[in-house]
Amino acid sequence: MTFKPLTASQLIRFKQQLLDLKKDCQQDLMDDNQSTDIVNLDQQSVGRLSRMDAMQNQQMALESKRRSQLQRIAIEKALKRMENGSYGCCEDCDEWINPKRLEINPTTTLCIECAD
Ligand SMILES: [Zn+2]
Repeated sequence: MTFKPLTASQLIRFKQQLLDLKKDCQQDLMDDNQSTDIVNLDQQSVGRLSRMDAMQNQQMALESKRRSQLQRIAIEKALKRMENGSYGCCEDCDEWINPKRLEINPTTTLCIECAD
């Protein structure tokens, strides 16, 4: 199944979505920094069990921070592809990606066949 290249108005909409996602991501990264700081402070005053909890929380905060960082890289990449006109085109087979797929995840770089 082949799809047509994205129209200008579709591109504008996806770009807006990407910029919104980028903003969320930056917010996440800031929140995570804060929670990591709080854990470090707590470690000095809490017992061993709570410290394990705190370490687990910190691990989760780091994990979510890592995800946000990866997401931010994917967003930057998508915005670059938009600039050079390759956005919406599959990186593997060079076919146009189903716009519905991009709506679900605007950072997608593979068509459904290559992603599977
Ligand atoms: Zn493909």
